[in-house]
Amino acid sequence: MDLWYTEKHTDHSGITLRIKKTLFSGKSPFQQLDIVETEDFGRMMLLDGLVMVTERDEFVYHDMITHPALFTHPAPKNVLVIGGGDGGSIREIVKHPGVEQAVLCEIDGLVIEKSIALLPTMACAIDGSDPRVTLHVDDGIAYIREHQNAFDVILIDSTDPIGPAVGLFEEEFYRLVNGALKEDGIMVAQSESPFYHAEIQRAMYRNLRAVFPIVEMYQAFIPTYPSGLWSFAFASKRYHPVDDFDRQRAASRPFATRYYNEDLHLGAFMLPTFARENISA
Ligand code: SAM
Repeated sequence: MDLWYTEKHTDHSGITLRIKKTLFSGKSPFQQLDIVETEDFGRMMLLDGLVMVTERDEFVYHDMITHPALFTHPAPKNVLVIGGGDGGSIREIVKHPGVEQAVLCEIDGLVIEKSIALLPTMACAIDGSDPRVTLHVDDGIAYIREHQNAFDVILIDSTDPIGPAVGLFEEEFYRLVNGALKEDGIMVAQSESPFYHAEIQRAMYRNLRAVFPIVEMYQAFIPTYPSGLWSFAFASKRYHPVDDFDRQRAASRPFATRYYNEDLHLGAFMLPTFARENISA
């Protein structure tokens, strides 16, 4: 029997992937979680029917949500990920030898549990093997309130602004993040598709600009995300991602990356005009 998964990006278009088999399907108190084997993209996690990660293209997203901030901040030691229960962001963070503490605050313990069990290439650093890594199963908004002036870098690796993630796109949350960052801290958040989500981006970047002195967007190519053109918000209390970037430090990084590199770091911040217009003040 032919089995196809379709994610609709609008009422009239989307992406469809042929499925080999279902590895897990279950409901947590927060969302429906499915992990399936696809023909073309390896294993794939879905939350409430939406693509979260696939084994084949997750390297793009996890390189790009982590390394631009970690190579812009001169000495990131304490890093927090809100969301990110698949573990891919933590996997990239702990590649940085200077990082002393990597905290994951994921609201849904089932996502962590099933990622460790079924997505080992992503969850390899949240399985207890790295003493620098701490896991919290909690709402990131509550966690941030309790941990002010604590982090050099905070990454918001969340679902879309629906359900438990709605508050992660609001000005009040960004004020809490600003307070949770040290005086020269950096926040990065996934900021949806410039092609499909102009209104979400307009509101999100307006909220960020009300809180942070430096706010920039950068882009990446992620084939299984809506339109393939994805974006990240870079919000910083002191360092600019291009002007203060130490290219030599990124070029001499002691680990391999399949998407990020010292030239792409700069190129990712050069936006198409329509994306620039989405976030123009
Ligand atoms: N790469 C994916 C993307 O760009 O959509 C994100 C993947 S990760 C699995 C998203 C995670 O955010 C989910 O596991 C979800 O449970 C978590 N999440 C959503 N709202 C949250 C909140 N308020 N606090 C902590 N985690 C949250």
